[in-house]
Amino acid sequence: MPDGRAVQSGHAVIPGSFDPPTNGHLDIIERAASIFPRLTVAVVVNPQKRDPLFTVAERELMLRECVAGFGNVQVDHFGGLLADFVRSLRADVIVKGLRVVSDFESEMAYAHMNRALCGVDTMFLMAHEGYSFISSSIVKEVFGQSGDVAGFVPKSVLAALEQKRTTTGGTNVDLPRHR
Ligand code: ADP
Repeated sequence: MPDGRAVQSGHAVIPGSFDPPTNGHLDIIERAASIFPRLTVAVVVNPQKRDPLFTVAERELMLRECVAGFGNVQVDHFGGLLADFVRSLRADVIVKGLRVVSDFESEMAYAHMNRALCGVDTMFLMAHEGYSFISSSIVKEVFGQSGDVAGFVPKSVLAALEQKRTTTGGTNVDLPRHR
């Protein structure tokens, strides 16, 4: 290591919308938690994303339940630039999951930009082959059409989805149907 910083002392950040967290997210979080001694899962506060299903506080709560068994994982949120948040934490690396080639295309630009802004690299973990087709959006779409998503989200998230349907009368998903 050129600057003597070993991975064993690394603090990694996994940013995302997590609206809601899925088994795909959890797989990446678990794998990153086994590589890095400290991991922060950070919910992006993105006012441009219209009509999120869950509030940032709800998403943080769901994530905390999901990672309760991990002693080295904390959950947080941030607004503004990821680079500024990473710098404020003095974190060493950003970790992201890659599902398909289109993920790579968009992530590459962000990885370069974040390194230019804060000097921190992004490391990518390949999505688990069983979860590479799962996104929060597709889970919401299927659940919104009364489909069974139990195999794709943690139990606590399924309960939160059901609760949301009970309290709002729907899942508030505005996506094309019949795909
Ligand atoms: P989504 O695209 O599902 O809204 P997020 O913005 O919450 O995802 O994504 C946060 C991070 O988790 C991103 O790096 C994304 O590539 C990764 N991710 C999302 N779904 C999966 C999955 N099924 N498997 C692996 N990584 C995933």
